[in-house]
Formats: sequence, structure tokens, C-alpha cells
Amino acid sequence: MKRALITGINGQDGSYLAELLLNNGYEVYGIIRRSSFENRNKLINIKHILDKIHLYPCSLEDHLAIYKLIKKIMPDECYHLAAQSFVNYSFENDSMIMSINFNSTLNLLTSINELSPHCRFYFAGSSEMFGNPDISPQNEETRFNPRSLYGISKLASYYLVTNFREKNGLYACTGISYNHESPRRGYQFVTRKITSGLAKIYTGKMETLELGNIDAIRDWGYAPDYVQAMRMMLDNPSGPKDYVIATGIPHSVKDFLETAFSALNLNYSDYIVINKDLIRNSENVPLIGNSRNIQHDLGWSHTKGFSEIVEEMVLNDLKLEK
Ligand code: GDP
Repeated sequence: MKRALITGINGQDGSYLAELLLNNGYEVYGIIRRSSFENRNKLINIKHILDKIHLYPCSLEDHLAIYKLIKKIMPDECYHLAAQSFVNYSFENDSMIMSINFNSTLNLLTSINELSPHCRFYFAGSSEMFGNPDISPQNEETRFNPRSLYGISKLASYYLVTNFREKNGLYACTGISYNHESPRRGYQFVTRKITSGLAKIYTGKMETLELGNIDAIRDWGYAPDYVQAMRMMLDNPSGPKDYVIATGIPHSVKDFLETAFSALNLNYSDYIVINKDLIRNSENVPLIGNSRNIQHDLGWSHTKGFSEIVEEMVLNDLKLEK
């Protein structure tokens, strides 16, 4: 039985990936924060599979603890999804983002390299590594130009992964994922903010929803499709390779609002208030991904369209609210 270790297992992607790997006969191990380990109520996304997976409380910044854990589990595959993930463009109060995101990747790679070098390693990269790109859509050849500490920290880890692959011969690769959503998306992201706000408006608990730039464009995919890509990348017949994972289809926040509100026969413009403090700078060229390479090499494609994703999220939040 193959053993897979997932960091960030309670997150949106980690939980879908754990389900996928369990269904494929894997033994699934997850690293979580000690506070979550002690208070299982925090494990919302994996509560339905808690009896099927092995969880270890561990700080990803603690090199010795990671080393010991890799020694104990001896994983065949490691999916490094955990990160301080909220994108803040202000560069203030964010010194932790760099150290946590970079050191966690370094601790995992050095431990795997020494103890379990056959272990295949997936790193969750991000379209934020392109940040403010020269061209759109972006592909694996596009110049990186991160504009947030989050993007910079992801790029630093990406170079670590590349170095361990090229210098140490590890099967290590990075998936450069564009935004991907689902009913398990965190509430700080605009999609979930909209669908959870809409559910509150619909049930009479809230009157308006404050948003920033609703003309902003994103390439929004479906999270379960993206974890499928992660698995495929660790099974690449031609060896470890980095890929862009995206739908290639641009939508604005306004499109999202329209689709979400009209699913409940409401007109979004009656409920939205623009708050200038929520508007971010430097979003000139849209982040849209060209995933032709992963489609061609591995046969990956996205399965769920934009309106289906939005509607699934709306219905889920409505159910939670009622
Ligand atoms: P990310 O920035 O791509 O990681 O994802 P978000 O969901 O946080 O933001 C997606 C887009 O929605 C960005 O272009 C934001 O500027 C825009 N946006 C507009 N209003 C809001 C808001 O109230 N909250 C967030 N998070 N994003 C907003």
C-alpha cells in the first residue's frame, strides 16, 4: 500500500486530495497544527474521513520534528499544500509568510532527500508567482514577476523544488495552480465571501455585501479537478515536470456576482456596496493560465464549468445558513 503525506490536509485542496488518495487505496498521513489536533472541531473539511487517515501535530517550521516524522512515515508521495495563503499586497506585518512558506518546503525536501529519496514530491505553486505578468495567458515559459510576499515565497519554494530535482535527482515538481474554488473554499476569498454573503442576504441576516474591485478578472477552476492534476503529476511517465493548472477561461468578479445572485433570482446590484479600502493595486494584466502542456502530456482537463461551480457554492452556503 502506498503512503502519501499531505501538508495542509484540512484545507480545501488537502481534504479533496485525501479523499482521492483514499479512494485509490493509499494510506493517507496528514500534518496539522497542534491547536487543530487538540481541538478536532477545527478539522471541518476532513471530519468525515478522520477515522481513515493518520494525523500528526507538527510545525512545518520545526526541522527536527519534520525529519522525525518523515523517518516514521517513510512516505512514497508527499504533497506540500500548506502555506500562509492570504494574498496581501501591502507588504506590511508579513515577515512570517516568507519564513513559514520557505522553511516548510526546505525542511520537507532536505528530510525526504536524506531519508526517503524515492518519495515523489508535489509542491503547490501559484499563479501569484506570475503576479503582474507581461502577457496573458501565462504558461510554463512566462517570466515570473510576483507582486506579493505570498507570490515571492511561493517562487522561492519553486526554485528549491527545481534545485532538488536537478541537483539531487528527486522526483519533485511544482503545479502552478490558478484560483480554484469549491464549497470548501476559505471565507476570505472573494468567491466564498460572495456565496456566504448571498446566503445571509437571502435568509434576511444581512442587507448588503462590501466588495473591492468587481471588474477584477480571475481564472476560476474547480478544486477537485486541481487535486486530480496533482496526482497525475506524480505519475508522469516522462518524469517530474512543472505544469500550469488552469481553465484558461477569464471571468470577472461581476460575472461571479451575476451568476450567484441570479441562481436565487436576485439582482446583485441591489446588494453590493463598493468599499475603496478593499480595492487592490497593480492588477493590470489578468492572471489567466494556459494549461495546454498538462492537457497534452497527462490528459488532464477541467470537468466543471464556471456556473456549475458558482451554483454548487451558493447551494452549499444556503444549506449551511438555513
Ligand atoms: P486571490 O487574490 O487571487 O488569491 O483571490 P481572492 O478571491 O482573494 O481575490 C480575487 C479577486 O477578487 C482579486 O482581484 C480581488 O481584488 C477581487 N476582490 C474584489 N473584492 C474583493 C473582496 O472583498 N475580497 C477579496 N478577497 N477579493 C476581492
